[in-house]
Amino acid sequence: MAEGLTNWAGNVTYSVKELERPDSPGALQALIARSRRVRVLGSGHSFNLMADPGDGGVLLSLTALPPSVEVDTAARTVRVAGGVRYAELARAVHARGLALPNMASLPHISVAGSVATGTHGSGNANGSLASPVREVELVLADGSALTVGRDDARFDGAVTSLGALGVVTALTLDLEPAFEVAQQVFGRLPFAGLDFGRVSASAYSVSLFTDWRRSEFVHAWVKRRTDAPWDGFPWAEPATEAVHPVPGMPAVNCTQQFGVPGPWHERLPHFRPEFTPSSGSEIQSEYLLPRPYAVDALAALDAIRETIAPVLQICEVRTVAADRQWLSPSYGRDTVAFHFTWVDDAGAVLPVVRRIEEALAPFDARPHWGKVFAVPTGALRARYPRIGAFTALAEELDPTGTFRNTFVSEVLGRPSQP
Ligand SMILES: Cc1cc2nc3c(=O)[nH]c(=O)nc-3n(C[C@H](O)[C@H](O)[C@H](O)COP(=O)(O)OP(=O)(O)OC[C@H]3O[C@@H](n4cnc5c(N)ncnc54)[C@H](O)[C@@H]3O)c2cc1C
Repeated sequence: MAEGLTNWAGNVTYSVKELERPDSPGALQALIARSRRVRVLGSGHSFNLMADPGDGGVLLSLTALPPSVEVDTAARTVRVAGGVRYAELARAVHARGLALPNMASLPHISVAGSVATGTHGSGNANGSLASPVREVELVLADGSALTVGRDDARFDGAVTSLGALGVVTALTLDLEPAFEVAQQVFGRLPFAGLDFGRVSASAYSVSLFTDWRRSEFVHAWVKRRTDAPWDGFPWAEPATEAVHPVPGMPAVNCTQQFGVPGPWHERLPHFRPEFTPSSGSEIQSEYLLPRPYAVDALAALDAIRETIAPVLQICEVRTVAADRQWLSPSYGRDTVAFHFTWVDDAGAVLPVVRRIEEALAPFDARPHWGKVFAVPTGALRARYPRIGAFTALAEELDPTGTFRNTFVSEVLGRPSQP
């Protein structure tokens, strides 16, 4: 067990011993204005040091601020405070007969931290979790407040922003009428002859799982809206028992399966909020690439599956619709995402991460910002056509570099101490 303040997974330790927890907007603004370097910790579910403020910096938690969730049923929007998690947001929204379009595999994560990293669920037509955001409220380095809405030219840099612009104190999101989802698990699907386009389009959200021990998906998690026509899933047999994505973990941790209809927020995530998600002892990596490369990328990974399998718990393949956020890994392109849940052994995993990055090099793969990757910064920047615009925005809103830690400095290609 790591000593000190760690992320959820415990694979990284932050430079600070304690979190600062301001309990009023005034206290938050004053703390930011008097601090040289500030970062925010959301729910700490990222697997790298992107939240770390570095030595002498301040790591803020927003959990002592009011966890407000204000639903406007007429406008079909919700304004949610910076420290709130999806589980609480989803319950409040559903209680008013409304819904978010999609969720990640777990509802435990903070909304602000998730949209800051381009976090996503699955579904050919579902954008990342940043897509429904219509307004961001920030506290800047001098303690002043700034609201950036969709009509502002800076908006496309302001949501998936890695925490580089300021502290996000609230977000306003578009909602839609509540809907029901039926989730069913199928297996197995050999890679040979796989029509990826039809399989991923077969329901509202499809996740394909492989352990890379054979050239096949062991399970397909199919989440269909009950208000849409459905042609079934003819490629595999329905599972006869409830399953967990990670072999050996209890299915009771997972949302209801067997096609039983239920509220959107109790089916779209794989994991229930009251249980540990995933395995709890793990490292994760994920690569997002243009969807037309899906089958070629699958074949490239299949060629090294004997390297991947020994350090893998499970691999999940999902689709994400293109979005407009400059730093979103699905920026400007309909995407296929290859996610890896590794064993909790960085020494064994990192060489395999590098092999995967070599295998995916022809496909312009963008790593998930919140997971473990080894792509050199220069190559990473080249994969984001609007990185220059984002760097200019960060310099405009944070001229003192208060929110610029090592991670952000590398992404911006700027020193951490301007
Ligand atoms: C078990 C598990 C399952 C996962 N499943 C998925 C999945 O299905 N899809 C997916 O895409 N990802 C997934 N992830 C990754 C996860 O969603 C991201 O790492 C996400 O960033 C987590 O949000 P967080 O609040 O924990 O962020 P943190 O790790 O706390 O922070 C992430 C970044 O956001 C910044 N930040 C946080 N809050 C604020 C704020 N209020 N203002 C300014 N900056 C802020 C932080 O400084 C940091 O740079 C999973 C992770 C785990 C552990």
